[in-house]
Amino acid sequence: MRRKGLATMAVQSAEADASTTNSLPVDLGPATALSCRECGERFELGPIFACSSCFGPLEVAYELPLGDAERLRKQIEAGPDNIWRYAPLLPVPADVASKPSLNPGFTKLVKADNLARELGVTGALYVKDDSGNPTHSFKDRVVAIAVEAARAFGFTTLSCSSTGNLAGAVGAAAARAGFRSCVFIPHDLEQGKVVMASVYGGDLVGIEGNYDDVNRFCSELIGDPLGEGWGFVNVNLRPYYGEGSKTLAYEICEQLGWRIPDQLVIPIASGSQLTKIDKGLKELIALGLVEDKPYKIFGAQAEGCSPVSAAFKAGHDVVRPQKPNTIAKSLAIGNPADGPYVLDIARRTGGAVEDVDDEQVVASIKLLAETEGIFAETAGGVTVGVTKKLIEAGLLDPSLTTVVLNTGDGLKTLEAVAPTTGQSAVIRPNLDSFREAGLA
Ligand SMILES: *Cc1c(COP(=O)(O)O)cnc(C)c1O
Ligand SMILES: [Zn+2]
Repeated sequence: MRRKGLATMAVQSAEADASTTNSLPVDLGPATALSCRECGERFELGPIFACSSCFGPLEVAYELPLGDAERLRKQIEAGPDNIWRYAPLLPVPADVASKPSLNPGFTKLVKADNLARELGVTGALYVKDDSGNPTHSFKDRVVAIAVEAARAFGFTTLSCSSTGNLAGAVGAAAARAGFRSCVFIPHDLEQGKVVMASVYGGDLVGIEGNYDDVNRFCSELIGDPLGEGWGFVNVNLRPYYGEGSKTLAYEICEQLGWRIPDQLVIPIASGSQLTKIDKGLKELIALGLVEDKPYKIFGAQAEGCSPVSAAFKAGHDVVRPQKPNTIAKSLAIGNPADGPYVLDIARRTGGAVEDVDDEQVVASIKLLAETEGIFAETAGGVTVGVTKKLIEAGLLDPSLTTVVLNTGDGLKTLEAVAPTTGQSAVIRPNLDSFREAGLA
């Protein structure tokens, strides 16, 4: 029922778009069309997201610079220290680096030897730390690409349905790029997410409901005259938005000396990030930028919102929606749009999807902080916790090269660890008092 509604809207906007794109050619660099993930039908580049024939999701199709891999590698390496170094592989105009943007990306790939020792990893363990992005989550990557699409399609307002991080990323990017913003969140998010999403001056609307309610509301708004001129980065601009996650794959491989890691552990909310990292790896192989070798992709969820993990374990290829109840609010999507594709990828690559409970999320946030000095948000607790569990279950090989994603900053989810952290002692400012505290 819901899919049908979305598809109807997609058809309407495809028609509306056909009239505008005839007069205004869209320059999104190497992107040539949108293609349906299910039936392969192609559509002109526009603000549409579902196939009008089969309702399948659309993704960006390219004419990629195949042929001279060495030249492309040199061009990338000479580019800016942000995602625009990969502009030839993204749906953005060639001069994108000169436009007002938060210029996210090229975050640290941390060799996590202390964590490796704790987890019994004998191979190389890395944490890709995306808390280093401008608004402290991986969402700056996807928003930066969606902003270019919004510019190309003439939108004036940027919007989104968000589990928290996306709202902040859209607010900040809109402020810098000169759009109005109005973003929607579940009303009961962490204070850090709410403050961050409103400080950039756009409108922030709390919805009485969970993320899936917020998303349903946004889909309605797109079909209504009230939403005219609005680019919803993760709804009507979703095909472009998704491509931003490919840059995680590109960066990880480049930072490993143009090598694909053996295993990756990736958090799942809607599943977009995981599926696009896989797409990015396949592109690097096709372009000859990395050696073609097998890799395993593991998905990570919180037990209190684990629809994909549950489907994986049950051997299903459809995902049954859940009502989320977890401290990992950034991953709390009960009805993940890309769930079935995540299942395909985990199975095809020989990976798995696993989940951990909230207690393990907190313990894993602390483990990462204590071993590597990285303070992750709850989503990072999920990936580290799942990595530990997968090793214990014999599903992740501790002797290989593994990259674990931390996609957000612990300062935005202080509530998660606040009850189990704090001052070791409160003393008077003299030595006797310190001696009495027994900390010397
Ligand atoms: C949004 C988000 C993700 C992943 O989202 P997908 O919808 O699966 O692409 C992961 N971590 C954090 C911190 C996020 O905010
Ligand atoms: Zn189709």
